[in-house]
Amino acid sequence: MPILDPEKLWKEVLSELELLVSKANFSTWLQNTNVIDTKQDTILLSVPNSFAKEWIQNKYHKFIIKALRRIEPSIKSIEYTICNQSNPVYKKNVMRYKELLTETKELPQMEFNEFYENEESLNPRYTFDNFIVGSFNELAHAAAMAVTKNPGTQYNPLFIYGGVGLGKTHLLQAIGNQIKLQNKNLKIKYITSEKFSNGLVQSLQNNQVHAFKEMHKQYDLLIVDDVQFFAGRQKTQEEFFHVFNTLYENNKQIIFSSDRSPKSIPDIEERLRSRFEGGMMADVSEPEYEARIAILKSKLEIKSLSLSEEVVEHIASIIKNNIRELEGMLNLICGQTNLLGKVLSLIEVKDLLNKNIYSRKKITFNKIIKTVATFYEIEEQNLFEKSRKKEHVLPRQVAMYLLREDFNGSYPFIGQKFGGRDHTTVIHAYEKISRDNKKDQQLKNQIQKIRELLYEQN
Ligand code: ADP
Ligand code: MG
Repeated sequence: MPILDPEKLWKEVLSELELLVSKANFSTWLQNTNVIDTKQDTILLSVPNSFAKEWIQNKYHKFIIKALRRIEPSIKSIEYTICNQSNPVYKKNVMRYKELLTETKELPQMEFNEFYENEESLNPRYTFDNFIVGSFNELAHAAAMAVTKNPGTQYNPLFIYGGVGLGKTHLLQAIGNQIKLQNKNLKIKYITSEKFSNGLVQSLQNNQVHAFKEMHKQYDLLIVDDVQFFAGRQKTQEEFFHVFNTLYENNKQIIFSSDRSPKSIPDIEERLRSRFEGGMMADVSEPEYEARIAILKSKLEIKSLSLSEEVVEHIASIIKNNIRELEGMLNLICGQTNLLGKVLSLIEVKDLLNKNIYSRKKITFNKIIKTVATFYEIEEQNLFEKSRKKEHVLPRQVAMYLLREDFNGSYPFIGQKFGGRDHTTVIHAYEKISRDNKKDQQLKNQIQKIRELLYEQN
């Protein structure tokens, strides 16, 4: 397997996980994990003890595998192995586990699963205040706001759908938090469809299905995240259907999210699909450039981090279709800023991007040539010719600029590729485009568009 540096890989994964879980959970369960080996397409992960193993497998496995694959697509599975139990880390974790358990004293006999479910409820971090609205999500946002004003009446159920990292969970949780703020007495439940399904399976095993359903029927607001995972789970669908009907008939608000529209979820009973579609449906799409800038600026403010305008624009032009990735990048920058104790320059940020994003998206020489030629609607051949026609000179210089900037080609290499031109010609082209890119808005837009095309192909 082409995993060059498991340690580095794991560091990256951890930095992603850090964004997803609370500090206490991160340091208790994840911090002391390590990749100790890689076998073909399997990662061997050491965890400090069996508690941690169970916890991580139950709660984080999906995130871990997703993060791993994003960096190293060839990875297919993870094997968890417990490292030496005389390790002091083991004792620390067991203590911490007990501590966490006693923090939830009101349910002293809680099972492991119930315990972690209890922990995953509304997260106060997700509010409307820190949710940026643009044309990509304005319908979903408006519907969400309407629900907070009149829960259970106008838009019931509300069904929000769209791709990963585009703010669905944030929006769902913001509704919950807002309604809770308005009325503390309301019973609000946020649950992922998987948790619901797992809870149901467990209740079946314990002969407690009735109690399980009754529990869910008592909520004033039920939020079910990622309902695409109901697909193919017939028993879950059946039981959920009854829960839904009771809540609906009692004018209780129900909110769903999914990574696709109800029509596109496979293996869903028709009657449930029609319930999903029966209220208000709103999609979130990918944020447009201006929205990405606004999101970055808002996150910078929250983090009290400063970056120049050109750096913000650069990040927004590279990371396009996932807000979680935008945030992840800012976290990396934040870490680096703290380390160096200064505001990062464009070059330093590009370097970070290079290591973390560009490198994953393999930009090739040919891809740049092809994309530039397509963009300017000329023949690829025209880029290499000696022609001095204006409609060829600019694309040629832009291609050289991108080959230097995004492909990291050396000047002599680029010169040689362009019909044996001298490297000073390439330097001249590179410097000219760098300069113009700062003051010429039209050129700036062109380069941004070309980059979007380049990185979108990956
Ligand atoms: P999804 O559930 O669609 O996969 P999330 O709601 O988990 O996406 O969003 C991923 C990250 O991006 C979260 O940290 C969230 O706070 C942030 N985010 C998403 N949309 C916005 C937005 N419109 N404004 C600010 N932050 C956002
Ligand atoms: Mg989500």
